[in-house]
Amino acid sequence: MSDRLIHGLSFNKELRFIAAYTKDTVEEARKIHNTSPLCSAALGRLLTAGAMMGSMCKNEDDLITLKIDGDGPVKQMTVSADAKARVRGLMYDPSVELPLKANGHLDVGGGVGAGMLTVMKDLGLKEPYIGQTPLTTGEIGDDITYYFAASEQTPSAVGLGVLVDKDGSIKHAGGFIIQLMPFASEETISHLEETLANMNSVTDHFEKGESLENLIRGLIGDFEIEGELTPQYHCGCNRDRVTKALISLGRDELDKMIGEGKPVTLHCDFCNKDYTFEIDELKNILSQ
Ligand SMILES: [Zn+2]
Repeated sequence: MSDRLIHGLSFNKELRFIAAYTKDTVEEARKIHNTSPLCSAALGRLLTAGAMMGSMCKNEDDLITLKIDGDGPVKQMTVSADAKARVRGLMYDPSVELPLKANGHLDVGGGVGAGMLTVMKDLGLKEPYIGQTPLTTGEIGDDITYYFAASEQTPSAVGLGVLVDKDGSIKHAGGFIIQLMPFASEETISHLEETLANMNSVTDHFEKGESLENLIRGLIGDFEIEGELTPQYHCGCNRDRVTKALISLGRDELDKMIGEGKPVTLHCDFCNKDYTFEIDELKNILSQ
């Protein structure tokens, strides 16, 4: 199954959903950051959440950033996503490993620890929207569920999963977000709660070869798809943007670089790309 994201409404329109399969996206992140299995799971879940929450943005230029700050060894993770479900991510220490939990799962909650989730939405307005909520379990899915309830007043169910293969590569990754519309009936709500409580992990469903459609049907019954996207690991950095970053360092800093007489290389931590500027280029930038 290749990466895809679908979103739509339940047949009675009381629930909206997003579901995503993100194996290739998370595998790309693993290759770029050389993540340990635990870190692949942690960052992969946040990337998947980012792709889905990005797809909820209305305008093409909207950007959403999810930041986790925890007191566990993973410490910090940042993911940003756009409305086309293109995501990029970064973490403080991608090599962190912990013993598996009693149920054999990777201990993402232990790796993240207690702390805060910050959601920043740049919707092209003067100020970005910033919402911040405490982490509940550090397992990412629970933390985002709590964020939606506490910060956006939208009751939601969020499931996220990354299955790491024996060789460290990503076997499956994906997730779902289901949100209650304000007029959802008690019956719909309790039915959903029951289904979620009895549900296997997302990656169990993928292991059985289930499609996103099957996964969602099992959760909310009949539905209508309103749109489909292809999640993708995409950085978006380019020479123009890096040049602007150089300019923003200021005249003195640029003068100093030129004075040192060596080409300057800037590194993009999101995609590991290097941008080298020769002295002549630096002089050009300074003279503009
Ligand atoms: Zn980059």
